[in-house]
Amino acid sequence: MSGRITVAGLGPGADALVTPEVTQALAEATDVIGYIPYVARVAPRADLRLHPSDNRVELDRARHALDLAEGGARVVIVSSGDPGVFAMAAALFEALEERDTDPDIRILPGITAMLAAAARAGAPLGHDFCAINLSDNLKPFALIEKRLRHAAMGDFAMAFYNPRSKSRPEGFARVLQILREECEPERLLIFARAVSTLDEELRITTLARATPEMADMRTVVIVGNSATRRVGRWVYAPRSAGA
Ligand code: SAH
Repeated sequence: MSGRITVAGLGPGADALVTPEVTQALAEATDVIGYIPYVARVAPRADLRLHPSDNRVELDRARHALDLAEGGARVVIVSSGDPGVFAMAAALFEALEERDTDPDIRILPGITAMLAAAARAGAPLGHDFCAINLSDNLKPFALIEKRLRHAAMGDFAMAFYNPRSKSRPEGFARVLQILREECEPERLLIFARAVSTLDEELRITTLARATPEMADMRTVVIVGNSATRRVGRWVYAPRSAGA
């Protein structure tokens, strides 16, 4: 029997935000591969092998999935949120490029952190926006800075993933400094932490009041565009711009 690889997004945390097709794929799986906290979200079963691994070994994980599928396994690689957003789907295709095989692959979308966070805050991504991974793990900080400045100049709303880690706490302070050079002090920022989990926290502030400590690795940060405003407790980006 030939195997299959499914790359599945588990959503931001709540069980209710896991799609039915992902639940179905997990029910049919023989093996689940992924970062330790994501594999921990999969209910164990006697006939299911779990392969949790540490962070930053995405390519090894993808190669492992390809090996298991070649042996006939029905492998599910799990990511949080959506597997195509700063996650395992791209790593799988990088590993596939190393081989001369054409395995059965499916990518199942999930609700990515910025969309779950935006829904909590109102509609801050209601106009044009971009998503930037602030981790300098796989790209130099100079490229992050270039993209930030261009996005700010283009007046895009922005969503920042991986904003601040213990290993590079100074990076996010620099990001706020760059934003202060490009945007007005009243610009609205949303710090959405652990959305859809018991630890959820939502903080809405201005660029002038934002501090680096407001973000950690469980936070997605949304920066409004120049027209983003508040109505009651909500934040939204008006649908028209530049008229
Ligand atoms: N594939 C994931 C992103 C992985 S990168 C997705 O589509 O959501 C990991 C980053 O995602 C974290 O550092 C954080 O910025 C963000 N993130 C993931 N889950 C989150 C949640 N429940 N609440 C807020 N941010 C979250």
